[in-house]
Amino acid sequence: MKRTYNFNAGPSALPEEVLQIAQKELLDFNQTGMSVMELSHRSKDFENVHNEAQRLLKQLLAIPDNYEILFLQGGASLQFPMIPMNFLSEDQVGNYVLTGVWSEKALKEAKILGLPTAIAASTKETNYDRIPNLSELAVSPDDGYLHITSNNTIYGTQWKEYPKVKDNLLIADMSSDILSKPLPIENFAMIYAGAQKNLGPSGVTVVILRKDLLEKTLNKQIPTMLRYDTHAKNNSLYNTPPTFSIYMLNKVLQWVSERGGVTGISKENELKASLIYDAIDESNGFYKGHALNNSRSLMNITFNLASEELSKKFLSEAKEAGFVGLNGHRSVGGCRASTYNAVPYEACKALQQFMLKFKQENSTSM
Ligand code: PMP
Repeated sequence: MKRTYNFNAGPSALPEEVLQIAQKELLDFNQTGMSVMELSHRSKDFENVHNEAQRLLKQLLAIPDNYEILFLQGGASLQFPMIPMNFLSEDQVGNYVLTGVWSEKALKEAKILGLPTAIAASTKETNYDRIPNLSELAVSPDDGYLHITSNNTIYGTQWKEYPKVKDNLLIADMSSDILSKPLPIENFAMIYAGAQKNLGPSGVTVVILRKDLLEKTLNKQIPTMLRYDTHAKNNSLYNTPPTFSIYMLNKVLQWVSERGGVTGISKENELKASLIYDAIDESNGFYKGHALNNSRSLMNITFNLASEELSKKFLSEAKEAGFVGLNGHRSVGGCRASTYNAVPYEACKALQQFMLKFKQENSTSM
């Protein structure tokens, strides 16, 4: 069996060790004589998995006791309307920093609900090639929250320093960089992420929520499943949770713990990304990065070649050489290498070598 060089943007590579454990346990989980997928979500065996996943996440990200850790469904996309529904009112404005399509979508949902919104800053003018400077952000004491997308999967940009907001009412969509580095959790009122990049398979969405925010929802008319307090009161077991996704999340969290936690992982991520950024920077313009240098993401590396034709040739030869998922998103074009936690160093090294070789062979066609 040969595992491929998987640079997919999400769902994306999972740690091979985790897949092997899941395979081994598939027919008989913990001597229950059944798969984890066949267990009752109210059973002790599943409860242990669920609680261990919460405990490990709390430990890995140093999440204080005044935060809830929720496992929800509906992807990060369902958080877009739930956030304004639960936390905004006529005199509390949802303030959004636009750094890409995902932040635009988050704002759009608040607008559909007819709730007051504002745009703190936007880098749309330059096709989202950078994160705004903190001094560019227009914030106000009336903000119910400030919403950011910590890593922009499509454009390959990432916040390096987070804004300090009054009462720490900062909310971040961390779908594509959660668990890739240590975080100042206290600066955030809420962090959310679909699992399918750094946390596990799709199907579960992790929400880390400061408990005092639940008070904002008390007198609001919101359907039961869309209320954060419903899930907080029921330890995310109000209805049937995505049990297999939570089981895999738990295994991925164990894997991260064994690799030195987020500090260890972040060092690996820096090394991996620098292999590919070096290939771009040392190419004399053969490869051109989309993101400005000080906004570059360590998770999604976006680049173009001199012409669309050359990009196509690159992608086609890369595919033949065994690299998967390098096509850029249609709004940026070119190429994108997603180097999430589970993408091995060797895969990034192989891509770097491929980029150098391709440049050597094709430099004259520039
Ligand atoms: N936010 C970001 C930053 C994303 O990258 C994605 C998915 N690629 C989403 C939100 C949407 O996530 P989901 O598909 O889980 O709804």
